[in-house]
Amino acid sequence: MIYVSQPDIGELELEYTSEAVSSGWVSSIGKYVTRFEKEFSAYCDCQHGIAVTNGTDALVLALRALNVSRGDEVIIPSHTFAAVAASVKIIGAEPVIVDVDPEYWCIDPYNVEKAISSKTKAIIAVHSYGHPADMDAILALANKADIPVIEDCAEAHGARYKNKKVGSIGSVGCFSFYGNKIITTGEGGMLVTNDDTLNDRIRFLKDHAMLPGRRYYHTEVGYNKRMTNIQAALGCAQMKRIKEFLSHRARILEWYKEDLEGIDGIQSLNPKMKWANPVNWMTSILLDNQASKMIDEISSRLLDKGVDTRPFFIPISNLPPYKDCLSFSRKQGVNISDHLGRSGLNLPTYNQLTREQVSYCSQSLIEAIK
Ligand SMILES: *Cc1c(COP(=O)(O)O)cnc(C)c1O
Repeated sequence: MIYVSQPDIGELELEYTSEAVSSGWVSSIGKYVTRFEKEFSAYCDCQHGIAVTNGTDALVLALRALNVSRGDEVIIPSHTFAAVAASVKIIGAEPVIVDVDPEYWCIDPYNVEKAISSKTKAIIAVHSYGHPADMDAILALANKADIPVIEDCAEAHGARYKNKKVGSIGSVGCFSFYGNKIITTGEGGMLVTNDDTLNDRIRFLKDHAMLPGRRYYHTEVGYNKRMTNIQAALGCAQMKRIKEFLSHRARILEWYKEDLEGIDGIQSLNPKMKWANPVNWMTSILLDNQASKMIDEISSRLLDKGVDTRPFFIPISNLPPYKDCLSFSRKQGVNISDHLGRSGLNLPTYNQLTREQVSYCSQSLIEAIK
């Protein structure tokens, strides 16, 4: 079975984690947490990194730290993982769902402009499948309305927008280190920022909202969203290899392009705008209208041949908890997220994948479409 994704855990990961375990520093105090925060934030060209429990909690903390609360609106894209919408609901705010750009599948600034209201307290720009959102256009709108922008970089570690690393462009960047992300700590996440005040506030909230300098005095309802030293040890090992991971993932995309571009039924592979240096989190294909009609059949034929695939996200606005949320799309009745959800497939993409395996996946796909 060739899975869509699998983590790459090597000797270094074993060495660092066993050192963390045998040191006795198994909770969230320990040298690896600080080191991972330093190394990862530096990698993102940010001054601060705050290691947390997972990517969803990173979003929750970012919203809380920006003082988003009950009744406020937060603009999010429709074509993304449900955790983005859930993080908004969890703090009692309302997601306002906007459609994505048809070319690069991230939040469409045109729709963001229409969706901004006096209640808007934040915008979450998601860098989807490794491709950055159009940050200049979003920041121009956000700055005019004095609204902070949170970057969700869970799928885009190391990607760049006009030579700026994702996570360093908005007020705060949120990352996930789940097992299928570009680097993993098992479960885990990180917030990165250049804002000193925001850094202090996030650290305070993630650690029980205990007043610095006064032990056991808590001025707000806080969380425990701390990453463990064992997880951070895994993260430090992965940081030593992130460059190698990203270049192999880029190579995998090139291989799939050689095999699949111009094939009947396949409309396109991962997008790349002029202003973007995407990373290949997951190789993505869009089927044409004809082939999309049998997308489920295609993925089950692939599964029979031992090739795992993954459908694109169901639009947030089609999911039960978010059905009644306000939503905006460019043209009445034309919904890009809906179209992507019905025509997109992710293909196996991970560090250990060989040229032969990619050829096998491509050939199986070509046959499955016929
Ligand atoms: C994976 C992911 C998350 C959630 O991260 P977890 O660590 O699983 O909580 C959030 N946003 C996006 C876009 C993701 O892909």
